[in-house]
Amino acid sequence: MTDAKPLMQGKRGLIMGVANERSLAWGIAKAVHAQGAELAFTHQGDAYGKRVRPLADSLGSDFVRDCDVSSESSLDALFAALAERWGRLDFVVHAIGFADPSDLKGRYVDTKRENFLKSLDISCYSFTDLCRRAEPLMSAGGSLLTLSYIGAERVMPHYNVMGVAKAALEASVQYLAVDLGNQNIRVNAISAGPIKTLAASGIGDFRYILKWNQYNAPLKRNVTIDDVGGAGLYLLSDLAAGVTGEVHHVDCGYHVVGMKAVDAPDISVV
Ligand code: NAD
Repeated sequence: MTDAKPLMQGKRGLIMGVANERSLAWGIAKAVHAQGAELAFTHQGDAYGKRVRPLADSLGSDFVRDCDVSSESSLDALFAALAERWGRLDFVVHAIGFADPSDLKGRYVDTKRENFLKSLDISCYSFTDLCRRAEPLMSAGGSLLTLSYIGAERVMPHYNVMGVAKAALEASVQYLAVDLGNQNIRVNAISAGPIKTLAASGIGDFRYILKWNQYNAPLKRNVTIDDVGGAGLYLLSDLAAGVTGEVHHVDCGYHVVGMKAVDAPDISVV
């Protein structure tokens, strides 16, 4: 048997959305780096920069840029820097979402226009924007990946406007896959089960949601960022060369379940 070449050897990718070592983006970054990928990172503002720089450094990356996806000039500067440094890009991970915490409790129907537009802008449009900006750097093909949640498909407690943003994001994955497919650029999403991260801590009753998933998912546990990392590696690598327009569930099977498991304890134990 010959020695297998690392799956991501020779590939260069942009990872957006690492806030700290609990971030889903960090799980994916570790997995692709372990298979030889060279990485660039972004963070949102100086406070996150202090956390992200040492993490990037631990994966051998000195390409760390401040980037707010709601700012055109910030994105212009990022892609100019990428074009100058690498001149090409093989993959992008978009692990970015935002909703005002006041909208992640109570009723969806009470969402204000301003908050709705901001949530959709940052959580959905930014991915389309990134895909368009990445396209010219992917002349040899590429893979674009975003993160979603089952709240796009069905109502989940308190997910509210984020559920609507994720539904739009999942629909945009399909349109983007068609637009970019003739250049061998693939576009996919991972629909991850709940994981305790900074962003998730803004969702009302998140501990309850975690317990419910643990008791009722077929695998009887919650997913980890390493589970998400493994699936991300697959979708970003040539193993998934024939996969695009896909929303891949990494949720210990929770999405197939229609009712509380008969052996699940009463949720009042939380
Ligand atoms: P996280 O807090 O670690 O990451 C969220 C990231 O979004 C942060 O790095 C933050 O800086 C970034 N961000 C927000 N607004 C931004 C802006 N304007 N410009 C640039 N960056 C911005 O949390 P996470 O849970 O790892 O979230 C990553 C993605 O995974 C999100 O899209 C989230 O909706 C999705 N997701 C999370 C879960 C979960 O349970 N944690 C489940 C499914 C999907």
